[in-house]
Amino acid sequence: MKLFAIFGDPVSHSRSPLMHNCVFKNLNYPACYTRVHLKDGSKLRDTFFALGLSGANITVPHKEAAYNACDEIRGFAKTVGVVNTIINENGKLIGYNTDADGFMYSIEEFGDIKNILVIGAGGTSKALSSRFKQDGIVVDVLNRSEGRLEEFKSIVDNTYTWDSLVIKKYDLVVNTTSAGLSDENYPCPLNMLENILDNTSYVADAIYGKLTPFLKLASEKGLTYKDGSDMLLGQGVLANELFVNGELKKEDIRMYMKKSFEL
Ligand code: NDP
Repeated sequence: MKLFAIFGDPVSHSRSPLMHNCVFKNLNYPACYTRVHLKDGSKLRDTFFALGLSGANITVPHKEAAYNACDEIRGFAKTVGVVNTIINENGKLIGYNTDADGFMYSIEEFGDIKNILVIGAGGTSKALSSRFKQDGIVVDVLNRSEGRLEEFKSIVDNTYTWDSLVIKKYDLVVNTTSAGLSDENYPCPLNMLENILDNTSYVADAIYGKLTPFLKLASEKGLTYKDGSDMLLGQGVLANELFVNGELKKEDIRMYMKKSFEL
């Protein structure tokens, strides 16, 4: 029996255990998935081995710590320095990032997106912004504070703090901050957010399972919006494929993972 886990702080809200266990149980795969509340990201590697894990997902705020915990980084995670999936390959920790491709899957229904404003400058923002740029999309990033924007300057087209934002038209605005996750905060001051939303067509939040104040405002303005559920599904399917090392069919994984959303 293989054991998998999600590490985060907070982690109690995470649907990942339900999603992965639903796949393992229904497809008779001998594995179990649990959650670990980890406060100190530097303890990730030791905790992973102490629990005898075969693999893990990593959520807020440890994705950059996860990158540092790995012996080898593969695929898109190399470009962004952010890891959300770890596989134990013969005692070596291999890091991947499945968030960005999961998000691309989730916005397919919005059609051709040419420019995006990303709010937030954490690990998720970095992964999504870099992935958008790979597709030739114009990307601006808005963050509460200046510090984290520094490394975005070479990745995206424009970076703004609340003080320097220039309002423009965007096809899509994405909230990647944790504002609204376990509080009722907006990701930026309300009057600024009103202005931003009055100039966009589509709105997406990385947070899932609740109507955040950000999405509520988008809904009140009659905009087309979605929460992070499809991103969660997209990243989860890709992570599960890595966990089972190709032993299960992708369509089956997707079907049972989606079913877990009804539980
Ligand atoms: P990080 O901790 O790396 O980054 C958090 C960012 O949010 C920082 O830019 C920070 O700004 C900003 N922020 C935090 N609180 C506030 C606030 N009250 N007002 C404005 N800005 C704020 O987090 P992650 O990038 O790992 O995750 C971000 C969110 O995305 C989480 O809510 C997570 O649950 C969600 N997520 C969802 C996924 C899905 O599958 N649906 C996948 C991945 C993430 P500053 O720099 O100023 O501190």
